[in-house]
Amino acid sequence: MIQQVMTAPKKIEFREVPVPEIKADQVLVKIMKIGICGSDIHVYHGTHPFTSYPVTQGHEVSAKVVKLGSEVQGLEVGQKVTIEPQVYCGECYPCRHGKYNLCEKLKVMGFQTTGTASEYFAVDASKVTPIPESMTYSEGTMLEPLAVTVHAAKRFPEIKGAKVAILGCGPIGILLAQSCKALGADKVMITDVSDYRLELAKKCGVDFAVNTKEKDFGEALTECLGEDKADVIYDCAGNDITMGQAIKYARKGSTIILVAVFGKMATVDLAVLNDHELDLNTTMMYRHEDYVDAIRLVNEGKIQLKPLMSKEYAFKDYLEAYQYIDDNKETTMKVLIDVDSSEENI
Ligand SMILES: [Zn+2]
Ligand SMILES: [Zn+2]
Repeated sequence: MIQQVMTAPKKIEFREVPVPEIKADQVLVKIMKIGICGSDIHVYHGTHPFTSYPVTQGHEVSAKVVKLGSEVQGLEVGQKVTIEPQVYCGECYPCRHGKYNLCEKLKVMGFQTTGTASEYFAVDASKVTPIPESMTYSEGTMLEPLAVTVHAAKRFPEIKGAKVAILGCGPIGILLAQSCKALGADKVMITDVSDYRLELAKKCGVDFAVNTKEKDFGEALTECLGEDKADVIYDCAGNDITMGQAIKYARKGSTIILVAVFGKMATVDLAVLNDHELDLNTTMMYRHEDYVDAIRLVNEGKIQLKPLMSKEYAFKDYLEAYQYIDDNKETTMKVLIDVDSSEENI
């Protein structure tokens, strides 16, 4: 079979390797589609702090089961599935307390361990989650980023009825806006400096989309959400400007949740954070229950994934996909790789 390997930044090779053997508790899947996300792009540029080369990428994935290990139960050959890409030890404190997304030895497929960008992939059955037959393989790849945002939404336990502000209108910002609404948020406002992205957010049902190049974030908060402003502010951009806005304008005693990964050391006003007794919270990936909720919310029609799919490339054109993303930064949301272009593969 063919396997993608990024041998160095901006260099992709395809290797002919044997189809992997499976262990008793594993399944063999045929990879259908893969989504490219911001972290993959960091690997492409050589700026991902926790990835070395060569690496086979791919962690946002949809697949079809082709073979079951002898001990595997609850899965069937032919079933549409997605794969949860976290490899964890099961023994450390977070793992023993159900928080394996925070495993002290966490490895993520496509970064610190082999990703799914190959025609077939052998994986522990425990990491395989069936997706409904009605869901397309393209939608299936987006369950991973959606699980990120479902987890982020649930990191604010009072999300039901909440007034929410989200800074940053990329795929994660827009999926988070939808996740908050789907989990019962009252009103969601999103900000960005790109009108293109803000329009897309509106199409996906966000209540207010504000361009902070034209309007002050503080003013927008009261205009859109009222005098009491937001109950929770999510930073999905992850820079000093957005975190600065959040800290400066958050209602006293409210919550800020950092979703994005800061590219460098932050310079923010912790004196105000302190003086306003703000809860600064964070969120890290997801757990199985977030996938289950993500699948349910898509199935209930509460989340729109299609508007976020920008373009699709054939497996052999993996490199072109990255070049397209680099050349179309503002207008690109999710780019998909069609690993298996044959058959009923939709
Ligand atoms: Zn990702
Ligand atoms: Zn662990």
